[in-house]
Amino acid sequence: MDKYKQYFLKNIRKKLEEWETVPSISHNEVYRFLHSIAGTASIIGFDEIGSKARKLMNQLNETDDKQWTIEEVKQYLFEIIEWFDENKKDAPVSFTDKGNKYGDKPVILLIDDDTSFLMYMKEQLEKVGWYVAAIANPQKAITSFYDVRPDCVVIDIHMKETDGFAVLEFLKEKLKQQFIPTIMVSVDSSKAVRIKSYEMGADDFIQKPFDLDEFIVRVKRQLERKKHIDEMLLLDELTHVYNRKYLKQAYALLQSDWQRSQEPFCLAVLDLDHFKQVNDRYGHLVGDVVLREFARFLKQGTRVSDIIVRFGGEEFVILFPKTRREEASEVVNRLREQFECHSFREGGTAFSRTFSCGVVEITDANEPLEHWLRLADNALYEAKENGRNRVVSATPSQEAVHQKIIKIAVVDDDPIMRTIITDIVTKLPCERKTKHELQTFKDGVEFIASNWHREHSPCLVILDGVMPKMDGLEVLQWIRQQKRSDRYKVIMLTSRRSENDIARALELGADDYITKPFKLLELEARICQMMKRMS
Ligand code: GH3
Ligand code: MG
Ligand code: MG
Repeated sequence: MDKYKQYFLKNIRKKLEEWETVPSISHNEVYRFLHSIAGTASIIGFDEIGSKARKLMNQLNETDDKQWTIEEVKQYLFEIIEWFDENKKDAPVSFTDKGNKYGDKPVILLIDDDTSFLMYMKEQLEKVGWYVAAIANPQKAITSFYDVRPDCVVIDIHMKETDGFAVLEFLKEKLKQQFIPTIMVSVDSSKAVRIKSYEMGADDFIQKPFDLDEFIVRVKRQLERKKHIDEMLLLDELTHVYNRKYLKQAYALLQSDWQRSQEPFCLAVLDLDHFKQVNDRYGHLVGDVVLREFARFLKQGTRVSDIIVRFGGEEFVILFPKTRREEASEVVNRLREQFECHSFREGGTAFSRTFSCGVVEITDANEPLEHWLRLADNALYEAKENGRNRVVSATPSQEAVHQKIIKIAVVDDDPIMRTIITDIVTKLPCERKTKHELQTFKDGVEFIASNWHREHSPCLVILDGVMPKMDGLEVLQWIRQQKRSDRYKVIMLTSRRSENDIARALELGADDYITKPFKLLELEARICQMMKRMS
């Protein structure tokens, strides 16, 4: 039998034995016992007992002052105990559902303050195989946009505080630049609203309520178009320098040159220092301007034959053909000094920025691009560590990879869930520059008391909704009240029954949720998606 099942049965036994020894059992404890079985059993392949527990749980009030005797408990849980006795020595059943591909799913950003609609759509669209980031607070849409990097955006027009047009107004330049299809939905399908949507750049307008199948087909078409455009583009839409895809091609060309001539060439990775501050202080639009000006500045300050690439975010790569390390370092150092003096204007104030850089000379082009990127990254890391605004040359001894740490906190009172999630996380593949660190907490109080997650690393919190002492929503609320709360990403684990809890979680700013019982692969995919957003 697989170990989760054994563990699960052991836990039931422990509880039942424990109850034999106490004078009375609180209602809350009985309820939570059922809740935990209902949530866990079907995840590990004990579906039947999961639904039995759910049925029994649903017959109880969630809160009640009743004290149960062990006889009453045995009577009430008769079916469960009977099943338990039969299954104590169950034959092995495997639950492995590994091997699927995830992380490449199209990402839909869905903005609507109607949480029941959000929940419904998220569930339906995820069945199609898409990943849905559901945002209930339109004010959060702009930061979510940068964070989620969607392939399609769906915006409801009629929202209480900020209407959909205001959201679109804010995002429209960005959407247009990146060819991200945008779909407006609304109950009001008057000619004026439709026309306004299209005039503002929406690619489609869909009236609510709509036929789900038709909605899916319309989104699918938009996604196909987006994919096609992405495949054709070699230029970065924001900065008009080459994109990452082109870097591969360019390296391949230089590789074949090298094989003929053995002439050395260089690669530099440049990363703007504390760029997040620009966004935080002046807004994302100003951040974009800085990126665009930085790219232009790099183009002007280098030779025509040098290849400038936006690698992602605020990270750029320059390839210097026929150039030695000393020469390349000199060029980037000159750029660094000039850039430091360059001033940006925002409103009445002027500000300046700096960047850090790692340079590597390609001494053997038979090595893949990733090898050189890793070396340059390590040098860049050293430049950041030593105070930023500097250029560091890579040395072959810098092979050790410096990785960004992502903390993962599992907060769940159910020990089986903690084990399952720990297993999932330890098997997770790592991105190029990240490393996971995991800790489990048996309740919210323990999590909040811990200092482990308080330093600056980003932290993914996998948070159970129902826990003793402090429930998941209270923990979420605490997290969102912290000063740098955007460091935390939260995935809530909720039970199907508590739709209100899901709505509340979305309102409080949960980044994702998953309803128990869920498939392990599904949870794994969500954790992966979230980690991708964090790295
Ligand atoms: P460090 O000096 O360590 O590099 O700090 P940093 O703040 O530059 O690094 P970090 O990687 O934490 O933050 C990068 C930020 O860049 C976060 C992200 O929101 C922002 N960003 C990424 N792409 C874009 C974009 O296209 N436009 C804008 N405005 N911001 C972007
Ligand atoms: Mg940076
Ligand atoms: Mg960065």
